[in-house]
Amino acid sequence: MTIKNKLRAGIGFLFLLAFICCGLSIYYLNRLSAVSGVILKDNYETLQYMRNIGLAMDEDGGALNNHQVGVIEKNLVKQEHNITEPGEQELTDSLRSKYEQLKLIKGNALHQNELRLDIRRLLYGIMQLNMKAIQHKNAVANDTSGSATVLVALIGSFLFLVAFSFIINFPGYIANPIKELTERIKEISKRNYHQQLDFKSNDEFGELAQAFNNMTFKLNEYESSSLASIMFEKKRIETIINSMHDGIIGLDEKSFIIFVNQVACELVGIAEANLIGHYAPDVALENDLLRNLLVTDQHKMKIYADNRESYYSKDIMPVINKGTMIGKVIILKNITEFQQLDEAKTNFIATISHELKTPISSIKMSLKLLDDQRIGEVNAEQKQLLENIDDDARRLLQITGELLDMAQVETGKLNLNFGTTHPKNIVDYAVKAVKFTAEQKQVDLKVNCADSLPDVRADLDKTTWVLINLLSNAIKYSPERSEVELNVKRLKGDEIEFSVTDHGQGIESKYLPRIFERYFKVPGSKGEQSGTGLGLAIAKDFIEAQSGKIGVESDLGEGSRFYFTLKKG
Ligand code: ADP
Repeated sequence: MTIKNKLRAGIGFLFLLAFICCGLSIYYLNRLSAVSGVILKDNYETLQYMRNIGLAMDEDGGALNNHQVGVIEKNLVKQEHNITEPGEQELTDSLRSKYEQLKLIKGNALHQNELRLDIRRLLYGIMQLNMKAIQHKNAVANDTSGSATVLVALIGSFLFLVAFSFIINFPGYIANPIKELTERIKEISKRNYHQQLDFKSNDEFGELAQAFNNMTFKLNEYESSSLASIMFEKKRIETIINSMHDGIIGLDEKSFIIFVNQVACELVGIAEANLIGHYAPDVALENDLLRNLLVTDQHKMKIYADNRESYYSKDIMPVINKGTMIGKVIILKNITEFQQLDEAKTNFIATISHELKTPISSIKMSLKLLDDQRIGEVNAEQKQLLENIDDDARRLLQITGELLDMAQVETGKLNLNFGTTHPKNIVDYAVKAVKFTAEQKQVDLKVNCADSLPDVRADLDKTTWVLINLLSNAIKYSPERSEVELNVKRLKGDEIEFSVTDHGQGIESKYLPRIFERYFKVPGSKGEQSGTGLGLAIAKDFIEAQSGKIGVESDLGEGSRFYFTLKKG
């Protein structure tokens, strides 16, 4: 049965109970009133008639006069039509016969008195009969009312109990399933899909339970199927990550470690279980390598793991989803092999440059001797040729010098001779060195270096070398008859900045981040053919070795500004 019909049936049942109660009460009230009505109407009236007849008889003794006859006749007829009790008919018939006799007798007083006496006896008898009947009916009415009260009370109590249990149970019948359903839905919202409703009824709740159970079954099925495929994909990615030779550490946006491969675990020296789910900065507190990975921007690092020293390059890849960073992946690439090759190359370069320096120097020496008048006269053409050889030998010496410097830097054999000196000294040396080249190109060198500037703490040779390099580049990449400015100023704090500004070709912004890389030359630039691409890389190493910063700002076609900073002395 549907809930709608159950509600209808329940309320209808209550109505029925009320109706039965009312009906019974009305029935018993009617029965009582019927009994008392009969008492009044029949027996009481008979008593009235008999009393009237008796009173009429008492009016006058002897024969009946006309008035007496009229009253008696009228009441006797009424009595004859109001026979209600057993034996009453006979008494009334006797009363009629005695009355008829009395009516006919004239003058015989004795007989008249006898008849009157008989009539009085009959009147009394009829009255007696009706009085008894009244008493009997009154008793019956009392009994009826008593049993009706008991019956109505019993039925009323029963109906009350039924209605009471109905009122107690019926709201629960509606509310309990709803409560249970609410509980299950709350569980589902916690992703606990193993929920079943057990409503056995065939009503809407039964249908609801079936639909709900179907839904949870489907949700469960979906959850486990998508979970299974997600788990499978996760496993696959984990296998890929684990089979890689690079160390990989994944962090979420709050820096909690979400995955780490075997290589990374070995490098860091912590078991996977003690890394995954942990807050990386907390783990880093007790692990130097992880601290280096998270905090420093050191790109290349030497790691001692697996009983040997290896070189790793660190790459941090931000993981970006729809414009927001949702984590990052740290990749540690094993570059030991490249490092060894690189070292071999550096050693080779160092050896070659060193070996070349001696013959080039002796070439220069020989050239000097050749130029000496005492050795012999050279004609103008020979002199030009000797000058050309001298130029090339100077360039060769410069290149081998740069290569040697670079090798020194790369092998960590860079020796710095720190001292305090006024910036003007560095500027004067450098300007003197490039003066000739600038004049040849008619480039106007504008120097701005105030005497009031404080001393700097620097290696004079290396810093001068850097400034000469920047100035040479500026002159090289400037058009003829242009200006190159050399400015030295004090920055906020303890830093002095040296900057060289030219108005030459400038550098495309996409090349700016690579400009300090070794062997990098801007493609298609004027100096691409002649330069080595080492000058700026060495300059960077020299400046950074002195705890300074080096940088460049440039607009294509507008010119460039190279600068470096040194600490106050
Ligand atoms: P190189 O010996 O080739 O000049 P550098 O390391 O000094 O090597 O310079 C690297 C490259 O940077 C150069 O090849 C050149 O393309 C570019 N460059 C350096 N200085 C300037 C400048 N002042 N203006 C334009 N480009 C420059």
